[in-house]
Amino acid sequence: MFSYRHAFHAGNHADVIKHTTLIATLRHLMQKEPAITLVDTHAGAGLYRLDGDYAETGGEAKDGVVKLMAACRPAQGTPVPASPALDDYLDLIAGFNPSGSLRVYPGSPFVLHTLMRTASRDKLKLFELHPTDGKTLDANIAQLEAGRSITVVRQDGFEGLKPLLPPPPSATGSRRALVLIDPSYEIKSDYAKVSTCIQDSLKRFPTGTYLVWYPVIPRTEAHDLPKRLKTLCNQAQRPWLNATLAIGQDPSHGPDDRPGLTASGMFVINPPHTLKPALQQTLTILLDVLGRGRGKGQSVESGG
Ligand code: SAM
Repeated sequence: MFSYRHAFHAGNHADVIKHTTLIATLRHLMQKEPAITLVDTHAGAGLYRLDGDYAETGGEAKDGVVKLMAACRPAQGTPVPASPALDDYLDLIAGFNPSGSLRVYPGSPFVLHTLMRTASRDKLKLFELHPTDGKTLDANIAQLEAGRSITVVRQDGFEGLKPLLPPPPSATGSRRALVLIDPSYEIKSDYAKVSTCIQDSLKRFPTGTYLVWYPVIPRTEAHDLPKRLKTLCNQAQRPWLNATLAIGQDPSHGPDDRPGLTASGMFVINPPHTLKPALQQTLTILLDVLGRGRGKGQSVESGG
């Protein structure tokens, strides 16, 4: 059950679409003053070394954030023009790497922490089940000395989310929450758990903003998940957005090489109205820079 370690994958193309979407969504929500409850049901370790053993083994950041940074922020030569949402993402990553070379990659807990506002009393709740990654996350978060504004819990995130919804009212009485659901899907039951979790969450708190990452792979459950989420949104009469990025096959790979993950999607429920144009512009650039070969593509659709 615990074979998945995000350190092998940190900064890959899936993290790029996931964290760019997360930042663009949050930026919009942060324009309104009242406090917001942020929940990361599958938090990971929080921070990752891109020059460490894990990342070296996977090397996945090379086809993700490393390639993107080199294209849009080259040390020399003409940069590929970035969209505002992509600039926002790259600025955030650069903020963790003040020396200029890309050594550290912030996972979703640190993306969320960077954007949360202490003055507005935003709260961040992090769930991570893996014993080692949970400990690392604890230690990484402790360094922030964020007090009670951030809570780390070694508990099933699907279960832990339930009592957090609806979120407590802010000083002005409004209730606001953003929830990131980012399982590793190493066990098939995660797909059904995501659907059940969204169905339940939409009953508890229909106006929350929910972001679900999912892999685009030839597996029935993976194929059905975005369809199922659309149905749930339509039944609950909530708007949704579905964005995918496929970098395609590596042309240097032989027919017997394992292709690894080449595509993934972000399904956003109650997305800000600014998200669709921002992602349309951004995914076009991401595909130009990260696209490799057969099967590459991107899409942004919305409904509700
Ligand atoms: N959200 C992180 C990010 O963007 O940086 C990456 C998370 S990684 C894809 C998924 C994480 O969920 C793994 O660290 C795994 O140990 C953890 N995990 C698996 N099942 C879980 C569960 N039921 N509840 C909480 N965490 C879980």
